[in-house]
Amino acid sequence: KELPADPVMENTRRKVFEATHSYVTPQIPLDPKIVHVSKDMLNDIGLDEKSMTSEDFFNIFSGKKVYPQTKPYAMAYAGHQFGNWAGQLGDGRAINLFEVSHNKKRWALQLKGAGATPYSRQGDGLAVLRSSIREYLCSEAMHHLGVPTTRALSLMLSGNKVLRDILYDGNANYEKGAIVTRLAPSFIRFGNFELFAARKELKNLKVLTDYTIKHFYPELGKPSKATYIAFFKTVSERTLKMIVDWQRVGFVHGVMNTDNMSILGLTIDYGPYGWLEGFDFGWTPNTTDAQNKRYRYGNQPNIGLWNLYQLANALYPLIEDTTPLEDILNTYKTNFDIESLQMMRSKLGLELKENSDKQLISDLEDCLLLLETDMTIFFRLLSNYKKGNSEKGIECIKDAFYKPEEFSEVIQEKWKGWFSAYDSRLGKETILDEERLQKMNAVNPKYVLRNYMAQLAIDKADEEDYSLIETFFNMLQNPYKEQPEYQHWFAKRPDWARHKVGCSM
Ligand code: AMP
Ligand code: MG
Ligand code: MG
Repeated sequence: KELPADPVMENTRRKVFEATHSYVTPQIPLDPKIVHVSKDMLNDIGLDEKSMTSEDFFNIFSGKKVYPQTKPYAMAYAGHQFGNWAGQLGDGRAINLFEVSHNKKRWALQLKGAGATPYSRQGDGLAVLRSSIREYLCSEAMHHLGVPTTRALSLMLSGNKVLRDILYDGNANYEKGAIVTRLAPSFIRFGNFELFAARKELKNLKVLTDYTIKHFYPELGKPSKATYIAFFKTVSERTLKMIVDWQRVGFVHGVMNTDNMSILGLTIDYGPYGWLEGFDFGWTPNTTDAQNKRYRYGNQPNIGLWNLYQLANALYPLIEDTTPLEDILNTYKTNFDIESLQMMRSKLGLELKENSDKQLISDLEDCLLLLETDMTIFFRLLSNYKKGNSEKGIECIKDAFYKPEEFSEVIQEKWKGWFSAYDSRLGKETILDEERLQKMNAVNPKYVLRNYMAQLAIDKADEEDYSLIETFFNMLQNPYKEQPEYQHWFAKRPDWARHKVGCSM
């Protein structure tokens, strides 16, 4: 009620001015079916397990029925895509249903793939099963990895056919349509602020900012310039924390446009994302970004900063002073160095802070790049390293190499050198091997949603076999635990999956 709504109540595609959102009606799906429901999230919104088999649950989270006395809406936002101003974007295939407060937590629930909205532009507002499985599994996996993220409640087939590609022979490739219900305290993005700033709708910029602070950053206090500065500072800190977590687990978002940056510092928009297999700063899963690789693994921290600059520009009219904004952006830079060093120390099991650690880490990164080395497996195996055994170091981690046959003598010498430095560094630590192992295993996941694993789950689901979705969903609830029953998924990407990457739309 506090935010200005679009007076036109229909789903037609158009430019929408002077409004934060438009009321819309989800499309009625042809023949919906439940594929998976998260019991965690059911609990979190105050529903019991029985309710997932109820008519209401099925109807509401497939888009078939609107919950009584609620008004579904799509949000208006803008954004910079791949570094360029893109103008009005908005929820083109997400529809917010309602909000739920339970156990002092507030959740906004939205359907992704429930049809066109005013913001759908040339898109159809739908989602295919393949991309929906990827979002469903990965967002929950990220949560259990301890990375701030939007969540997922349910995955349903819509029964509609969705057209994504025209094949080389000119035939249309129809795919199964699906709907994910996803949740977050709020889905407000940097792009929501950018929309009003770009259009000089300053009254709405203030209404939106005050609303965001009141509901999601109440500790910052009443609206004032100082509060807006503190708001930008907090968003900047949360964004930094999220990206350091991505770097830690080897997650590459793939499409860090400003419309995909949550104002709460949550990972949002699971499209062309991917997981590092071989450690590689230059890797991106996004095939449409293959030339510039703007959103490559090693560039994510810089892009976070670039995106924060855009947010600073958008908030400037409320603050009218560049100095505090610039200070905050500079602090992001220094803090990023500090936080990422600390994160890498934790991955290596280093408790003390030594000046030489930076060098040790950059030498390790050089070694990891010598031969394709699986990042997840490397760090997990490294925790087994025993102090005073540097000559056995390579032995300990050699299963992380994709092509051990290319392990030449030169490479071996470099690794030996690194293990010897690592061993002397560990010599300064007082913690015992066993304790270090526990600590390292709490930050270095054993199980992540490797790109080919998502693909296997998708291929099976296409044949109506959802068992792998269930398997991965369960396995990824405890990514840091040993889970011997899933040991065979603690494995390098098989050769057939080498250059295959999951797709976005
Ligand atoms: P993304 O690259 O996923 O962040 O999408 C950019 C913009 O395009 C957002 O405003 C989306 O809502 C919109 N969009 C993406 N896919 C579709 C689709 N299939 N139909 C309508 N809008 C879409
Ligand atoms: Mg998006
Ligand atoms: Mg997307």
